[in-house]
Amino acid sequence: MIPYGKQSISEEDIRAVVEVLRSDFLTCGPKVEEFESAFAAYCGAKHAVSCSNGTAALHLAMLAGGVTEGDVVVTSPLTFLASANAGRYVGAEIEFRDVEVTSLTLDADLLESNWNPNTKAVVAVDFAGHPADLERLSELCNNNGALLIEDASHSVGGAIQFEDEVFKIGAVPGVDMTTFSFHPVKTMTTGEGGMVTTDSDILADRLKLFRNHGMERRQTEFRAFGIDNNLLEIGPWSYEMHALGFNYRLTDMQCALGISQLSRLDSFVSRRRCIWETYNEAFQDLPHLRCPGVSSWVKPGSLLSWHLYPVRIDFEGLGRSRPEVMGKLRSLGVGTQVHYIPVSSQPYYGDGNKRGLSPVAADFYHEALSLPLFPGLTDEEIELVIGAIKRLHE
Ligand SMILES: *Cc1c(COP(=O)(O)O)cnc(C)c1O
Repeated sequence: MIPYGKQSISEEDIRAVVEVLRSDFLTCGPKVEEFESAFAAYCGAKHAVSCSNGTAALHLAMLAGGVTEGDVVVTSPLTFLASANAGRYVGAEIEFRDVEVTSLTLDADLLESNWNPNTKAVVAVDFAGHPADLERLSELCNNNGALLIEDASHSVGGAIQFEDEVFKIGAVPGVDMTTFSFHPVKTMTTGEGGMVTTDSDILADRLKLFRNHGMERRQTEFRAFGIDNNLLEIGPWSYEMHALGFNYRLTDMQCALGISQLSRLDSFVSRRRCIWETYNEAFQDLPHLRCPGVSSWVKPGSLLSWHLYPVRIDFEGLGRSRPEVMGKLRSLGVGTQVHYIPVSSQPYYGDGNKRGLSPVAADFYHEALSLPLFPGLTDEEIELVIGAIKRLHE
């Protein structure tokens, strides 16, 4: 069966990982900085800090940004759990704002008209690869002293045009930190893995501190050795703990895979875009089915990196329920998935007054079905998917 998403691993990827296994360092070695430098250069960001997964990247962004108890973190309900949970890890309250109907990303108008003055951070999710309205969101966050964290787990390799300039995702002006996931289902993979990019030296230092137990090894930064005179001797073993950090490091094996994958990222993105367009063309006139769209604020110089192909199906109109449609497609060899159950309606988050406040996300959820989209899909497989969708109407 064709899955809805799948990693693309080459012989070169395998060689890169095996080479590390034969080397001196499996973790904390040279591949980590090599991957970070290559990723930062690819995006055009000043810093890239690697970490163990996309959830850790979001948690680190919260910690580095100083988000804490009593703060409010605003995010979209139409995302994976982690975009919201990261705020809870640091004790913040999560408020969900509905999405805009085409991009399915945070509705900037709604965010502005419902602005909570306790908002410390906004987590803007680039849904399916469609960037959030970053130009407006950054202005809004900037005017209100809030951090803008872009969860770009879906949009690595994309680019967005502001005015006359085009910026890679990961280096969009006004975004304080951008987080990425390298889970195998995402556009590039390191097995598990994540990254945070930022242009801020201070945030980059803090991200690295929290990634590694809060340990500071740079003696120029030492503060406390004077406290206990017995500890005054400073040597190459010395370190200080400056914060309660975590072990969120990425290994050299994973970073080697990341470097190798990054070299093919542009080809992954263009293949995904090509499949996306083929589907759009094939499905445009089908009844009871709506293709994903692009919002009006996306200027023509932008390059969207599609992670998912989420169609909207009017299941009632079609005369088949979603489980029936998924079953029928499965019997025809086509795997599908639903992205996402609105996080705001999860039992953990869904207390009375938060339920049902995101009608656009809820409407989308009831109609959503993600079709297979990954670079390894062959032309025959694409035709098979298209044929299977057309047969739903028989
Ligand atoms: C995958 C994903 C994450 C979490 O990434 P992991 O690497 O699985 O921890 C966070 N946000 C979004 C939008 C994602 O799709």
